[in-house]
Amino acid sequence: MTLPPLREVIERHGLSASKALGQNFLFDEQLLGRIAAVPGSLEGKAVLEVGPGPGGLTRALLRAGARVTAIEMDRRCLPALAELAEAFPGQLEVIEGDALALDHGALMGESFAVVANLPYNVGTALLVRWLSGREWPPQWTSLTLMFQLEVAQRIVAAPGSGAYGRLAVLAQWRSRAKLAMKVHRSAFTPPPKVMSAVVHLEPAAMPDGVSPLQLERVTEAAFGQRRKMLRQSLKGVPGAVEALHSLGIDPARRAETLAVEEFIAVARALTG
Ligand code: SAM
Repeated sequence: MTLPPLREVIERHGLSASKALGQNFLFDEQLLGRIAAVPGSLEGKAVLEVGPGPGGLTRALLRAGARVTAIEMDRRCLPALAELAEAFPGQLEVIEGDALALDHGALMGESFAVVANLPYNVGTALLVRWLSGREWPPQWTSLTLMFQLEVAQRIVAAPGSGAYGRLAVLAQWRSRAKLAMKVHRSAFTPPPKVMSAVVHLEPAAMPDGVSPLQLERVTEAAFGQRRKMLRQSLKGVPGAVEALHSLGIDPARRAETLAVEEFIAVARALTG
């Protein structure tokens, strides 16, 4: 399928990137193809794309054979996306709206992969929401998301590193998360100030008997005072210091030395 170059589409539809909407567009079709390949074969699969903009990543997903539902809040992009829908009959549905305000499961009505290059604040909010769902395994089968490199590193961080914190514990509790590829800032128009990276997450089997709320309370308290010993930082969480003792976790350790499994064990002890 020959499509007009993305730069021509942008020009024809007057789509100058809006700073307020966090717009940094990708035009390199080879790079876009590599991002769309991260989740594995998408042939015939349902994909939710958030923030398609002028449709660069959308094209790559459609070329990979995906059935795409795309949520975009900038109505200026809709005519360009309508052209794509015409070029790939029956493969693309575009929904105008704010992805933070929509029920994605209800919208999709079946299991789906998520692929998105989003403004960073929206991406993090959606990631936390996708990871915190009550229903597990979730309706999504994978999340392939562009973040600024620093956020990507916080998602996949191992204990002992400065990037290790609440986001790593949440992500690695509920998913297998990997940094799939780094993307240079010069690949975007306009280029953002920092480097980016694509993170790929697949749902993990969730251990029984752990309340997400308890885990959140423990990680919030522990990393809220990450330089302090756990016996100090967890003081405000009833039962937490006792749980450390009964689990044989030294209360003189600091939050960033605890493995995800150890946080889960503490949360489980408090849940019971
Ligand atoms: N995916 C395109 C690409 O790779 O070139 C555009 C990327 S741009 C960083 C992010 C897009 O997300 C913009 O088109 C913006 O309008 C859209 N967007 C921002 N916030 C959104 C939200 N809450 N819901 C839906 N779309 C949003």
